[in-house]
Amino acid sequence: MLKSLYFKIVLILLIFIIAVMCAVGAILMNGVTSFYISDFTGQMTECFSGDGLLMIELEQVTADEQYADRMKQVLSSYGSILGVDQYRNYYVLNTEGEMLAGSDIELGAELPVTPNILSAINNSGGNIGTGGMDYADWAVRMNPGSESDCIIYIKDSLEEMRQLNQKLFTIILQAMVIGILIAVLLSFFLAKAISSPLQSLTYDTQLVASGEFTHEIEVRSADEIGVLADNFNYMKERLRATLEEVDGEREKLDIVLSCMRDAVLAFTADGRVLHFNNSAVELFGEPLKSETLGMEECFEILDIPLILEGNSIKLTSPDAAAEHTKDGFIFRDRTCGARVYDVSFAVIRYVSGKRQSSGCVIIIHDVTSRYELDESRREFVSNVSHELKTPLTSIKAYTETILSDPEMDAETREYFLGIVLSESDRMHRIVSDLLVLSRLDNKRTNWSVETFDLRQSVRRLCEVMRGQVSEHNHRVTFGCQRGLPEITADRQRIEQVILNILSNAIKYTPDGGKIDIKLTQLPKKFVRIEIADNGIGIPDDDIGHLFERFYRVEKSRTQDAGGTGLGLAIAKELVEAHGGRIAVKSALGEGTTVTIDLPVECKLEKNEKK
Ligand code: ADP
Repeated sequence: MLKSLYFKIVLILLIFIIAVMCAVGAILMNGVTSFYISDFTGQMTECFSGDGLLMIELEQVTADEQYADRMKQVLSSYGSILGVDQYRNYYVLNTEGEMLAGSDIELGAELPVTPNILSAINNSGGNIGTGGMDYADWAVRMNPGSESDCIIYIKDSLEEMRQLNQKLFTIILQAMVIGILIAVLLSFFLAKAISSPLQSLTYDTQLVASGEFTHEIEVRSADEIGVLADNFNYMKERLRATLEEVDGEREKLDIVLSCMRDAVLAFTADGRVLHFNNSAVELFGEPLKSETLGMEECFEILDIPLILEGNSIKLTSPDAAAEHTKDGFIFRDRTCGARVYDVSFAVIRYVSGKRQSSGCVIIIHDVTSRYELDESRREFVSNVSHELKTPLTSIKAYTETILSDPEMDAETREYFLGIVLSESDRMHRIVSDLLVLSRLDNKRTNWSVETFDLRQSVRRLCEVMRGQVSEHNHRVTFGCQRGLPEITADRQRIEQVILNILSNAIKYTPDGGKIDIKLTQLPKKFVRIEIADNGIGIPDDDIGHLFERFYRVEKSRTQDAGGTGLGLAIAKELVEAHGGRIAVKSALGEGTTVTIDLPVECKLEKNEKK
């Protein structure tokens, strides 16, 4: 309340009124006093001047024995000119200053000896001063040295002047009270006129401070406050537009960051998380969401030996995988759990409040698929080299043996050449299979799509394999569901798949085994080819890898069977190219069932060339 603008305005006006009235009062009262005294002095000077009528008449009565009474009569007759009244009296005094006659006998009896009386007694004038503030007096020595030597003394008690001053004081006081009342009233309206737009301005600034920009300040006047309100409205508009722009930019950045597949995190220099995107939450989970994950914990999880010191980022221990970049480091192929990441660190500088701060931004790029691809490529190259090296070594060894012994008997030579031929066949098979896979990978396979009866194809294949089947003494059964539709596919390729599976069943089933082939129709226009054997089976751990290139269960047990480990991989690629699926179920020592589901109408176009 005491600090309010209203109170200040009222107080200033009150002080102003009181000060003005005090000054006016003082000047007025001082003026009245001066006027009264100078009026008294003027009157006395005029009346008692040497050639004045009063003095002449007074001189005339000095010869009289009763000169004092006569003088009193003369003075009385000049009463109006001398201004004699109840407050101003005249006296005739002897040279001792005692009253001989006077207008007020009582007062005259107790007349104090004033400086003017003393001066008159000493015959050195009688008007040396007004006698102070209590009274004004005038003394005139008459006929000094004669018998009628006396003093005419006029004394004014100044009571009239005092009463006038009192009246003036009362009037000033009344004027002051009325003035104060008017001032309070005026200041109330003035303060209201000034403070109410300021109050609404204050209210509006509070709204703006709380983020509410829709409220418009009413501009009621064209004065300074009106201009202020106008400027404030303009400022608010600019601020709103700027904030919207900043929000828009931030939103854009957020959208970009949230759409990024890379995890992005920013930390302050003291390790607190500043920003993160959705991918970062997926990677670090709840601790990041609840902001309990700090920079150090993050470094620890990623196993990164880094530390942020001021404006630079440093390695805490040497790390061969760390590559220096312009702003920090990059660590490639960092394994974290089952995933592999390229992790980049950079120092950032940003403004927080008015301070320039530094921090660190981490970008975690998931390179698992690239890493796995690289791995599988490396593995593939190593597998190919290994697979080709074995037959090549045999071919080389047997050829050298034959060449080094020209005397070798024909039977042994033939045996050795047989081995060379079979190893060349094996190499040929591997290279052909790899070529098929390469064409499939590059989508350069020449498909020859036709509509055909699957039952006839399987029968024909059984015929083709009859020799091998009877060699191993297997029993093959074939069952086909009635009304099985013809399918549209690349017949040769599908037959190649069936042949692969069938030959596996023959190979991996001990002699005298049983192989069942079944063709059935599935809903949604699919047909199923099922080839089940009661052979050696496949361990559970290997089943998931069967379709990988060059994968063979226990190489030693399958090497004899002449496998390359590419048969199932090719089968899978061919079936999937047709829009079908292939699955293997197996129990070790009990047998294996391979299921191929093919669409009645394959998704390859007839005679499509890719
Ligand atoms: P391969 O040319 O060596 O037969 P495949 O890709 O056809 O290559 O098969 C991969 C591996 O799966 C084989 O080496 C074999 O160990 C195993 N396998 C495939 N079919 C059978 C089956 N019917 N019974 C047992 N093992 C099988």
